[in-house]
Amino acid sequence: MLGAHIDSWDLGTGAIDDGAGVGIVMTASKLILDLPERPKRTIRVVLFGAEEIGIYGGNFYVENNRNELARHIIAVEADAGQGPVHTIDIGVGNPLEPTLSTIRSALSKLGVQPGRAKSRGGPDIVPMSNAGVPIVGLDMFTDDYFDLHHTANDTIDKIEPERINQSAAAYVTFAYLASELGGYYRATD
Ligand SMILES: [Zn+2]
Repeated sequence: MLGAHIDSWDLGTGAIDDGAGVGIVMTASKLILDLPERPKRTIRVVLFGAEEIGIYGGNFYVENNRNELARHIIAVEADAGQGPVHTIDIGVGNPLEPTLSTIRSALSKLGVQPGRAKSRGGPDIVPMSNAGVPIVGLDMFTDDYFDLHHTANDTIDKIEPERINQSAAAYVTFAYLASELGGYYRATD
């Protein structure tokens, strides 16, 4: 699953928080959709509502998909601006799953470094993480994020194509490989 949230605060237009995340996951999914063949597993894109006022969309998703959660392979959310992505954190039950090293090495070509063996993802997928869904965090450069989000400066002119394109490349790399390689990321015992 690729997630982002579609609401924003009133002051700006929400280009950075979270229009950038919406653009990143929509671009990643469109690139996969345009391939001659689909990867093995379904890639679900969720644009969550009402994140800013209390993660209502993320909680609603879990409440309304309880019976399906066991079939969710892995989830990631883009909700930290436009990037670039610098680190991959792994919040999974089985960190030795071999496909993770393939994913890490593909991402390293985009300058994405291996990070912590821990992630709960973006805010909208924390409820999923709490319900046992494996999570990856594609951590982004955020030095200018907190000057922009939730302010009147959160506007489209702040988007830098080179940065957001690298992020979309990182998300599509992760999504495609997690789908196509068929890894299983939950603890097996
Ligand atoms: Zn946000």
